[in-house]
Amino acid sequence: MSHTDAPLLAVTGLRKSFGDNVVLDGVDFSVAPGQVVCLIGPSGSGKTTVLRCLNGLETPDAGVVAFSDGQRHDFAQPLKGRAAKLDRAALRDRSAMVFQQNNLFPHLTVLENVIEGPVHAHGASKDAATAEAERLLGRVGLAEKRDAYPHELSGGQQQRVGIVRALALAPDVLLFDEPTSALDPELVGEVLLVLKELAEEGWTMVIVTHELAFARQVADEVVFFDDGVIVERGHPRDIFTAPTNERTRRFLDRIL
Ligand code: ADP
Repeated sequence: MSHTDAPLLAVTGLRKSFGDNVVLDGVDFSVAPGQVVCLIGPSGSGKTTVLRCLNGLETPDAGVVAFSDGQRHDFAQPLKGRAAKLDRAALRDRSAMVFQQNNLFPHLTVLENVIEGPVHAHGASKDAATAEAERLLGRVGLAEKRDAYPHELSGGQQQRVGIVRALALAPDVLLFDEPTSALDPELVGEVLLVLKELAEEGWTMVIVTHELAFARQVADEVVFFDDGVIVERGHPRDIFTAPTNERTRRFLDRIL
């Protein structure tokens, strides 16, 4: 897929404060169809908040999130009541988020966890959602776990179910918030492999990660955050080998 297409998603002037704490201080970036964008930077720099704003889990104080088909959310002009609710739902529908901890429902089987969103949020029939869930579970090597409960799975398997649950919503954009940071080191590889395969299949993905080797392999663009702003962005080859910004350099020196 070409990465020169018009952006699928464009974020401009995103601002968010929690009390006096300015967490996002004017963030602009865009994601082309099929592009993989990795957000990196120090802890507390605002990366997760960006994802949460895109997924409607936080409401920005200002900024515009616009999609290539014309859907547009201007947070400087807040809507009220029912219109605000519909607007939030429309934004939430564009993306699906995979969290650090997979947040699976402990009392539901793997299959029930996966079909819950399509059936309850999207109104899909149970049969259609089940067929799609089985197909997706097969793709990540978990077909035989469909009737297992989350506690019967390893952390890596649980996270793969979390990814399938996001895929089952058929979002335009997949959002990953440090999807491997809660895993034991030996389980990280299997989850990163699934992410790589999704990237190769052409999914549009925004990934917050501390796995810099992974970002280097998979990202089309790396965006470096510090203190609520983007200080540098570019191809991983350039960012990791020749960062131009002092703050990026210091961060990479500490980590690499
Ligand atoms: P990162 O993902 O880069 O580690 P975050 O987006 O998680 O950064 O957090 C950025 C800042 O926002 C931190 O100072 C964090 O404490 C603060 N923050 C995030 N969510 C909330 C919240 N719900 N209430 C108050 N402060 C928050």
